[in-house]
Amino acid sequence: MLRKDNIPVKDWFNIWFNREKRKEFYTTSISLYKTTFNHDKNNTFSNILFNDSKNDKEIYFSSATLLEPFEESYGTFLIKFLNANFASFETSYRTFFCFYGFSILSEFYASIPSLKFFKTEDEFIETYQPIFNKVKPKLKKLQYLIKQCVDYMYNLNNDSIDKNYTPLEKYLSYSIFNNLFKYSTNIEVYYYQQFAHDIYHISSQSITPKIVREHLKNGIITLGDSPVFHTLYLSNILYISLFEIATNKNIKIKICKNCGKYFIPLKNNEKYCDIVYCKDEVTCKKIGANNSYSKKRNTIEWIRIYRNNYQRRLMQVKRSNNEQVKIDFENWKKLAKEKIKEFNNKLISEEKLIEWIEKK
Ligand SMILES: [Zn+2]
Repeated sequence: MLRKDNIPVKDWFNIWFNREKRKEFYTTSISLYKTTFNHDKNNTFSNILFNDSKNDKEIYFSSATLLEPFEESYGTFLIKFLNANFASFETSYRTFFCFYGFSILSEFYASIPSLKFFKTEDEFIETYQPIFNKVKPKLKKLQYLIKQCVDYMYNLNNDSIDKNYTPLEKYLSYSIFNNLFKYSTNIEVYYYQQFAHDIYHISSQSITPKIVREHLKNGIITLGDSPVFHTLYLSNILYISLFEIATNKNIKIKICKNCGKYFIPLKNNEKYCDIVYCKDEVTCKKIGANNSYSKKRNTIEWIRIYRNNYQRRLMQVKRSNNEQVKIDFENWKKLAKEKIKEFNNKLISEEKLIEWIEKK
């Protein structure tokens, strides 16, 4: 018989990873306060987005299940925590807790109220805001500890201490020095959960290699998924996420050149993040691409003017019998080269360069 699904989901937190597909899955219970479910076409399951425009009077709640978890790109929990703004209840909600719920604060606060239906927005805020205010210093301390580790691992703090060591070596030395292992004591691990409990799709009595092949294809059986980590401690979820990323040689954490957030680039040369919190938010990747596009277009603009001028002057030389015209052209070519060099070294502006080229 297949194992029955016995992992608690409501008011609990479960997370697992798929390195190969660069995915992260989790289940949690969240309030449907200013949140919306979003389904990317590349994902099997939905993810959560913040939605400020949503006018909630009554607030319901929802839980993901192991068969239908929330789906995010690999490393998102860690990245969202590093970028979270814990300045106020409001900022912390829109940058972190609306995605993961408040139950993961239970190590800092003994009796987090279980999710329930709230009649008004105020009732919701009055329930969770005092808890947040109480745990805020601890949250910030934890964030600082993890940030220091990530900055050190990926050389993000502008000093070059231990630059020649790998992120994994630095992660381990930081973990041992700061005893991060104390954050690994409240985790339960469930192996092969995704299909071993699937009593709906998979019948143990009629299973054949043919059916297994189908299920491997359609993703009902996935060997690439990590075990399911079950914990209610934020610090323990961070320990798991950091360990997952530190032991994955193909992953790097960078700082976005546009917004300054931590992000995991898909390719090594990426400069901009694609982190979004809200629906229809434009990613830095898009903004960055637009900027470099207009830069390119401008570059083409002066090259076009230069080429036109070059051709025009060359024609003049060809049509003229005057030796001086030829000498002038040779001098112009020489000077143009110098001007372009000045432009490339940012000594003159593009306008100045174009003005010079067009001058007779
Ligand atoms: Zn960014």
